[in-house]
Amino acid sequence: MATRPWTVEGPVDLEFDDVTRERNRSELTDPHLKRRFRRKHPLRRGADYDEMVRALDFVWDCPADGSVNVTGFCCATCGRSRAEFL
Ligand SMILES: [Zn+2]
Repeated sequence: MATRPWTVEGPVDLEFDDVTRERNRSELTDPHLKRRFRRKHPLRRGADYDEMVRALDFVWDCPADGSVNVTGFCCATCGRSRAEFL
């Protein structure tokens, strides 16, 4: 799977509160991300950054266009919320 950079350009997703949104955004660049991931998923060794941020639910992939969006924001490309695809 080709890696695409995640984005925070989308509109705010009101299913999430500001605290969750900001936490997800800041944790994407947390230097201790790997340690947090290992604590939660001890068996998934060798996971790369893209796998980790998805497993920790910091980002979501838009099924319609493949945009990678920070959880708490709607899709930057089509503007839909994650819940619309569930
Ligand atoms: Zn989209």
